[in-house]
Amino acid sequence: MQPAWEVLLDQTAFYPTSGGQPNDLGLLGEAVLLDVRDGEEGIAHIVDRELEKNGVKGCVNWPRRFDHMQQHTGQHLLSAMFQGRFGLPTVSFHLGVETCTIDLHGGEPSRDLLIGAQRAANKVIFEDRGVTVRYGTREQLARLGVRKEVEREGLLRAIEIEDADLQPCGGTHVKSTGQIGMILVRGCSKVRQDWRVEFVCGRRAEQAGTEDFERERGLMGVLGCALDELPAAVERLTAERDANFKSLRGALQQLAGLWGGQLASTAPAGANGVRVASLLLRGAHPELLLPLATEIAKSERTIALLILEESGQLVFAQHPTAGKDLGAVLKSVLAVHPGKGGGSKDFVRAKLAEAGSSAAALELAKSIVAA
Ligand SMILES: [Zn+2]
Repeated sequence: MQPAWEVLLDQTAFYPTSGGQPNDLGLLGEAVLLDVRDGEEGIAHIVDRELEKNGVKGCVNWPRRFDHMQQHTGQHLLSAMFQGRFGLPTVSFHLGVETCTIDLHGGEPSRDLLIGAQRAANKVIFEDRGVTVRYGTREQLARLGVRKEVEREGLLRAIEIEDADLQPCGGTHVKSTGQIGMILVRGCSKVRQDWRVEFVCGRRAEQAGTEDFERERGLMGVLGCALDELPAAVERLTAERDANFKSLRGALQQLAGLWGGQLASTAPAGANGVRVASLLLRGAHPELLLPLATEIAKSERTIALLILEESGQLVFAQHPTAGKDLGAVLKSVLAVHPGKGGGSKDFVRAKLAEAGSSAAALELAKSIVAA
């Protein structure tokens, strides 16, 4: 915690956090502003050092303020398009560090609707219409047709976008729609009963477009294709991956068939005549465990105890004639070497919490089934 001072001024150009818009930052004399709050006694400027009491010059961090103006005016415009064209009112607004969101009340906005609202808003931006401040009582403004009525009494401040929107608001806005630059809708998701639309305006839209391009360029390099070929290239890769996985599974199944039979026939038989094929597998594919254990357990009076050394994954399986309760065996093993898993009397699978205990767990399982 750094020491801080709260400063009240007789007038200020600094905007305090309110109405979904974050506070301004900047300097008051030599002091750095840490926060600006809408307090009970007026606008409170939180600074990092004490100020002289005979007047001070302020300096607003303009890039930050202008960014907020772009996002906030863009929000008015986008909300007006959603409501006016598609009957979806905005119930809340948040101006975040990277993106902005509005929550729309009503049915799920389709892709066409989202793009339609974006396009209509951008058309108003390209026409560079005026954005003006109007004052009036709640009733006067209501007669002019505000988008969303507010509950406040007295003289209200409203923002009018020429032939597009009128909305009571105390935030900061640009002078004409051209200064918004561009609105890009970036996503839509359900939040409780409403639809949260993510969007960016102005400099943020430029940055989002640039980042998209950089990502795509990276992918083009990795996949060795042109931009418009990207979706097809990714689809091809996915299909190849699925085909490779299928053929790998086939090969593992074949390996399990050959090796499992051999392991079952060479496994030593205990005093009770039950054969136990136990194996601590190193560098094996995890998908081999299941078919190999299944293959071994096809032989009568045979038990398979398989553990992958590197991961602690295990599969125990038996031919029903072996007559053990592998569920109970697993329970005893996990009591000493913790892990998660389960199964039936004839088949269990699990993963040990510590891969390092794989060898000891296998020895323990062997001694239990030999008893
Ligand atoms: Zn506003």
